[in-house]
Amino acid sequence: DLLATVAALNEDQGVHGILVQLPLPDRIDAARVLGAIDPAKDVDGFHPLNVGRLFSASGRIPSDLLLPCTPKGCMILLEEALGDLGGRHAVVVGRSNIVGKPLAALLLAANCTVTIAHSRSRDLSGLCRGAEILVAAVGRPELVRGDWIGHGATVLDVGINRVAGEDGKSKLVGDVAFAEAQGRAGAITPVPGGVGPMTVACLLDNTLIAARARHRRQG
Ligand code: NDP
Repeated sequence: DLLATVAALNEDQGVHGILVQLPLPDRIDAARVLGAIDPAKDVDGFHPLNVGRLFSASGRIPSDLLLPCTPKGCMILLEEALGDLGGRHAVVVGRSNIVGKPLAALLLAANCTVTIAHSRSRDLSGLCRGAEILVAAVGRPELVRGDWIGHGATVLDVGINRVAGEDGKSKLVGDVAFAEAQGRAGAITPVPGGVGPMTVACLLDNTLIAARARHRRQG
């Protein structure tokens, strides 16, 4: 049924962008579903063709390439805060296909020196401390402590974790201990309100890119 829905949306001339909300239930092969989306309507940037174009881009990323939304938003924030990223050491904690890997590819294309860390990395705090740009995309509440952050580093907190607050109500926190990090970081994104809204904005931007490309193809 899901593949049939994707096929119908692929054919529908009134639809410019398709997003399959992940994660899918275990019984559904997510790669098969993502691979069935028309790459020209793949506004999440997860189709293998778009992933391949990102990872094989040398130098500038093509402006019509549909990039994964969260990494794209992270790059906009970094370039606004820091300007040219060339030569900077970026550490990305997390290697998912949704955030960590595509963001590492974008940072590399922007001429950063990139370290990708994950659950098997040794001396995670030491790796983080060496970062000029530190991205936490882990899904572990406040894993990254203040003293893991180099003085003046730029920190992007991608994590969204729901935890119990002191008042008994639940609240959202990131993967970085924000209060501790503020004393060390040169700049840091809050959770909520930092990377999340950029993801939504980039989804709309991708949809506009896809719509424009469709109209160009149709002359
Ligand atoms: P995944 O669970 O797919 O990946 C998590 C990554 O973190 C894995 O690579 C894992 O390593 C690594 N990891 C887990 N535990 C540790 C640890 N203790 N030390 C070091 N690395 C660790 O998550 P996503 O990438 O999908 O999402 C990450 C977070 O970002 C989540 O909180 C999610 O909600 C949030 N998110 C926010 C978005 C936004 O718009 N702000 C958008 C997408 C996600 P390994 O590969 O070895 O298992």
